[in-house]
Amino acid sequence: MSGEFELIRRHFTRTAPAGMLGVGDDCALLSPSADATAVSTDLLVEGRHFFPDVDPRALGHKSLAVNLSDLAAMGAKPTAFVLGLALPLPRVDDAWLSAFAAGLFALADAYGCPLVGGDTTRSDTGTTLSITIFGSVPAQAALRRSGARPGDDIWVSGTLGDADLALRLLLGERDVPVADRAAVLAATRGALEWPEPRVALGLALRGLASAAIDISDGLLQDLGHVLAASGCGARLCADDVPVSPAVAALPAPWRRRCALGGGDAYELCFTAPAEARARVAEAAARAGVAATRIGAVDAGPGLRVVDAGGMPVPDLPRAGFDHFPMPVDPAAGSLPETS
Ligand code: ADP
Ligand code: MG
Repeated sequence: MSGEFELIRRHFTRTAPAGMLGVGDDCALLSPSADATAVSTDLLVEGRHFFPDVDPRALGHKSLAVNLSDLAAMGAKPTAFVLGLALPLPRVDDAWLSAFAAGLFALADAYGCPLVGGDTTRSDTGTTLSITIFGSVPAQAALRRSGARPGDDIWVSGTLGDADLALRLLLGERDVPVADRAAVLAATRGALEWPEPRVALGLALRGLASAAIDISDGLLQDLGHVLAASGCGARLCADDVPVSPAVAALPAPWRRRCALGGGDAYELCFTAPAEARARVAEAAARAGVAATRIGAVDAGPGLRVVDAGGMPVPDLPRAGFDHFPMPVDPAAGSLPETS
């Protein structure tokens, strides 16, 4: 069990009141009678989630996008959001704030999700942004993490790994095996800074997917949450995980690190019964996004990752992102922290 999730489990997980879905999924569900309110909140901290010199327009976009992504992962339709801002004095700058607001409202307008309140305060350290978002979903149609069943297919939307590769390049990791850093950064940076939340796909998967999660911390870790919540195992084919040309060009261990372990993807990983394959493909086409089958749920135990030949993948990224990682066994090998 990782530190961040153990901390949440130990200190902040209480039994939710009857009829509510509490801590542990992408959104909470309030009064899940016919139409439930889905709620999610995300913090973005300067120096941890974004670089101090990030394009403020991109930051405005991303801070709302990551929240919309949690609604997408529940199959919820956006209703409204509130915005908390802690700003150091140099950030109280019209040009910076206008650009931030432009990025924020462009996405809010695109998804019909108005800003209805918030709080603003001075910070004596860096900039911190907090968005709480509300959505609606018929309780029975919500895509929970706990619904995966043995025999279900495992799907992922879009491609994985670009955001992680861009972040490694921006962090100046010297050993990333790319010949032309500028060209690879230009090709991958949009995935890191301008993620597109898969809201339309989440809505199209209502009544079709058995479970879903958005990939914020890495496919292996986030799929692990679905399997743990569902009490199942799975077999995942590493070479079936869809990647962009930039990630495909990396040597296999790096490709897998970025695609299987890389965070900040904001694609959906979901499960659906095998007999729903054609309908899943239609739903994805309707939503205008690719969906790829990458494995199958089984009775377990655990998540087994194999290559195209069915052999276990030896150099797996150990885990995804964790804000409070536990001490690591040095013999186990580890992936550098990335976000
Ligand atoms: P996500 O990546 O989908 O935003 P997280 O990994 O951040 O979800 O959190 C996992 C679960 O723990 C979620 O259900 C979230 O609401 C809950 N959670 C995280 N931090 C807290 C906290 N401080 N108090 C209560 N619940 C929390
Ligand atoms: Mg999530």
